[in-house]
Amino acid sequence: MKIPFNKPYMTGKELWNISQAHHAGQLSGDGPFTKKCHEWFEKQLGCRKALLTHSCTGALEMAAILVGIKPGDEVIMPSYTFVSTANAFVLRGAVPVFVDIRGDTLNLDETKIEAAITDRTTAIVVVHYAGIGCEMDTVMAIAERHGLLVIEDAAQGLMSTYKGRPLGTIGHLGTLSFHETKNITSGEGGALLINDERFVDRAEIIREKGTNRSRFFRGQVDKYTWVDIGSSYLPGEIIAAFLIAQLEDAGDITRRRLSLWQQYSDNLKDLEQQGAVRRPMISAECEHNAHMYYLLLPDMKARTRLIEKLKELEIYTVFHYIPLHSSPAGLQYCRTSGSMATTDRISDCLVRLPLYADMTLQNVDYICSEICKLLGS
Ligand SMILES: *Cc1c(COP(=O)(O)O)cnc(C)c1O
Repeated sequence: MKIPFNKPYMTGKELWNISQAHHAGQLSGDGPFTKKCHEWFEKQLGCRKALLTHSCTGALEMAAILVGIKPGDEVIMPSYTFVSTANAFVLRGAVPVFVDIRGDTLNLDETKIEAAITDRTTAIVVVHYAGIGCEMDTVMAIAERHGLLVIEDAAQGLMSTYKGRPLGTIGHLGTLSFHETKNITSGEGGALLINDERFVDRAEIIREKGTNRSRFFRGQVDKYTWVDIGSSYLPGEIIAAFLIAQLEDAGDITRRRLSLWQQYSDNLKDLEQQGAVRRPMISAECEHNAHMYYLLLPDMKARTRLIEKLKELEIYTVFHYIPLHSSPAGLQYCRTSGSMATTDRISDCLVRLPLYADMTLQNVDYICSEICKLLGS
């Protein structure tokens, strides 16, 4: 039985929405479907303001401009993340300073943040890996003590919470991704969540090529013009029309994923007790969105062997991430603070198993039984 690693889920309402946008004849951004998406975020997540972007990468770039990054500023973040977390800040001339991750949640180790702070530090970027929340109370307290801003890269975290608060709404700014590989998708897509009132007006301007176009359309100014730096960060209406169909079914999509995730967890419990693998850990403060099911193998050799053996069975799995601190651009533009031992170890040992909303529990049972045959004692 061939099982892909990921398959984008369709709710069935996407094409109807797109036909409505087509019929209305407004295809550029910020039309009725974009407004519907904004309202969904503001109501469901409770952020002060949400703005759709063409990607989470775009939202991170906007965040870097908004927090006022200047050349030479330092931004603390994990090395164990996707490139855009760092790249968005490097584009503004900042130096990402990598801090190691925790061995349990694979999130930024909050106990190591303070040692990385210098008089050039301006912000902390946390990444909620696998949709599992970072220790946000501690991170926010450190930021407040040192006068730093906090950006949550919640690309994987829509529909997850930390102490009941949606991920992306706790820091000053948060970013979401709707890339095809994420739980809720529009192919490419993202959003910037603005939780601090100070950033609302400027965010609209940066997103609209540095113009006050949004204010003009609300009748707040009588002509629109170039007022600040910016770029084109907004998606067209076709993307928003697709996305709102998915957002409206976000609860259902998350429930489907959670039941698959739980099935993996139950089926692989014995293997963990035998010491062959370690399963993901969810801290008590967090409710997660089942973005990812991963296993940690004892070492890289065991991990590579498992991926290859499963591939022979046409079960497709992937590993994650080449740490940014050892990538060519990371070596050139970034520095580390302290040891990266956990980041290096996790990067060698982690394998992501197939997980998509219309997978069946039988698919999961089959994958787990093959894994148990390969690794069980
Ligand atoms: C997917 C992802 C991104 C990038 O999202 P895009 O929408 O593809 O730009 C950034 N950060 C993390 C942690 C991600 O998982």
